[in-house]
Amino acid sequence: MRYLKVSIPGLDRELTYSTDDESVIEGFCVEVPLGKRQVFGWVTGISEEEPSFKTKDIISSYLAFNSELKELFCWIADYYGGDLSSVIDTALPRQVESRISFNIQITGLGRDIFESEDEHKKFSSKYRAQYKVLTEIMRLGGTATREQLLTISTNLNNSINALEEKLLIEKKETKFFLQQKIKEVGFQKEKPTKLTDQQQSAFDFYHQKILNNKFETSLLFGITGSGKTEVYIRLIEEVINQNGAALVIVPEIALTPQLYDYFSSRLKTEIAILHSQISDGEKWYYWNAILKGEIKVAIGARSAVFAPLNNLRLIIVDEEHESSYKQSDNFRYNARDIAIVRAKLANCLAILGSATPSLETLHNVANKKYSIAEITERATGVLPPEIEIINLNEIKTKDLPSPNISPILAERIEETLAKKEQLIILHNKRGFSSYLQCNSCSEVLNCPSCSVTLTYHRNQKKLVCHLCNYTALAPSYCANCRDPKFTAVEGDETEIGKLEYRGSGTEKIVDEISLLFPNARIARLDRDTANKKNAYRKILGQMHEREADILIGTQMIAKGHDIPGVTLVGVIDADIGLHMPDFRSSERVLQLLTQVSGRAGRSSERGRVIIQTRQPFHPAILALKENKFKSFARFELDHRKPLFYPPWSHLMRIIVSSLSENEALTYAEKVSKIIDNQITHNLSNLTNRPVVTLLGPSPCPIEKISNRYRFHTIIKSTSPKFNSTIARELRFWEKNSKLPKDLRIAIDIDCYEMM
Ligand code: ADP
Ligand code: ZN
Repeated sequence: MRYLKVSIPGLDRELTYSTDDESVIEGFCVEVPLGKRQVFGWVTGISEEEPSFKTKDIISSYLAFNSELKELFCWIADYYGGDLSSVIDTALPRQVESRISFNIQITGLGRDIFESEDEHKKFSSKYRAQYKVLTEIMRLGGTATREQLLTISTNLNNSINALEEKLLIEKKETKFFLQQKIKEVGFQKEKPTKLTDQQQSAFDFYHQKILNNKFETSLLFGITGSGKTEVYIRLIEEVINQNGAALVIVPEIALTPQLYDYFSSRLKTEIAILHSQISDGEKWYYWNAILKGEIKVAIGARSAVFAPLNNLRLIIVDEEHESSYKQSDNFRYNARDIAIVRAKLANCLAILGSATPSLETLHNVANKKYSIAEITERATGVLPPEIEIINLNEIKTKDLPSPNISPILAERIEETLAKKEQLIILHNKRGFSSYLQCNSCSEVLNCPSCSVTLTYHRNQKKLVCHLCNYTALAPSYCANCRDPKFTAVEGDETEIGKLEYRGSGTEKIVDEISLLFPNARIARLDRDTANKKNAYRKILGQMHEREADILIGTQMIAKGHDIPGVTLVGVIDADIGLHMPDFRSSERVLQLLTQVSGRAGRSSERGRVIIQTRQPFHPAILALKENKFKSFARFELDHRKPLFYPPWSHLMRIIVSSLSENEALTYAEKVSKIIDNQITHNLSNLTNRPVVTLLGPSPCPIEKISNRYRFHTIIKSTSPKFNSTIARELRFWEKNSKLPKDLRIAIDIDCYEMM
């Protein structure tokens, strides 16, 4: 007998089960009895020693992850202060649960029972339960999933086991086949004959490290268009030659098709693509193929960091500064940080690539924790784009060709279109108008459940809350100033209480540009147009195929795309995001503006960038104009130091929310007290006493979301270990106290989101 430690989602401790199956190893998914139910869990440990208590046998099993991943899961549970089962549950795709891993198929012998009347009678009277199951499988055409049979039998597993023993059915591992391969849309790339000198040095630098087979984290600091991807591809080729595996994570789903095509046209091996928009079948197919070692290169978004690759030799985190690497619920991990831990466990190289690295990463380079390779020139030899800053304060409204378009931007668009070149317009706000405001009392229409304004979406003809998705028809008049039932009589010219559409979103920009340039073909990419499967691919494909001249969109269009025809980039309002109550706001805006600027003039001709702003002297805008990311970073680092903000501290945020404002505040205060106690009692025992400061509780900048009132407490500390301890302590307290049902406590370690 072997005894298995099994981690079950929803339970905070592991249970012990037994099996005599020699093939079960750590990382297996097992089905086990729990009370009257059958549940799934993961094997996290195995021992031969019989425990002092009685154990139950497992029901079924199959391999789900490898031992290296198990170590990673333990690290995550420890660092983020969660329990192992919920970590595994979040990390593994839903499909990797055995409920869809096998089909039950009737055998020839099984079918025979239904052929002969005698047999049929005998069997149905002798084995009633089994007969019912068998009949149902026949009814379903000879194959069924376990799920489909659940209602047929109260003791399904016994029936299935008995039928299997009699050879009347067999379990068949489900094979999902990839759906029809998506049509390629020209994202392929010719192989450049020669690396540039700087690419070559970066390649040599990393190639040596891959051969050394040691853990190391390194920043590949290469300007936009410097050809980082080409360096990645050649390094992965080396890894494949050595029979190793490589993992590439990218921040945005929009980047995966482009990179996937690029990689698969160049690497002579099958590549797994992993992100939230692929089908269950594909996910399952890839997971299995990776686990079995049939696929050695995986590329995907955040959760791909858990791809069960063996013999990892290289992990690449592209655009490492992106906040989309941070998971925003559950155990709020940062995929970049996990990638580094994974590289450590696998003893391999982790490359963080970026043109605008996070200050955390730059700080680690300065501290010699990370090494660095730089590429300061574009691979194609074209100069980086010329950046023009347009000070909107100096332009009179009457001189604007259109409310959001300055004369210079309009002129540049016209020139670009005349030359049959393409352009990208960034506007980081969705919808048509950002808010509706009464012309008389200035009241703004807010979401009834959240403390934010409602955005008008003209395509849907609705007001939408971007936080809770509440929708409503847009009223014409303000309810305070004018009776909603009031209907204007003809000749009534009063405009009292009329709601004005204020603030512009991408829909409005599309409108304005198509009015100015009626012959231009316009594509729009934002969360509203990209929510369908393959929509990204189609929209970007239009640009690649030159079926569209202008791409208008939110931050989604800023990253990574390499569209050769684009020579102009325009930014409608560079100030969006600059004044968020978040210490990272300037860093983020500069990163976004640099990224989007990098889309211009990538192939043969130098590009142009037009930035419209009302803050031309803001440090982020100046740094962009003068191409001084490094000095901006130094300035920001100096600025954050006295404030004890990251990277000078490890930040943690605890959000307490409830439908009752009072309750939220009361418990937020309790939480703060617990943390305060930890600081006074636990810290004084430590010799190398970390510095810890506690802020709050105070209302979150967005005080209410979905009717829940929100308070947060912020901890800045020099010790990530101490933060983990607090997280564990709080979760323990949460589990062991009778908290009100409505109350929620979110613990965000190394938080990015401050709202
Ligand atoms: P990055 O990711 O660093 O912004 P990319 O990898 O997208 O840059 O490369 C920018 C462009 O340069 C691409 O069109 C790519 O095909 C081209 N490129 C890369 N390496 C070379 C090279 N050695 N010679 C010529 N062109 C290259
Ligand atoms: Zn809302």
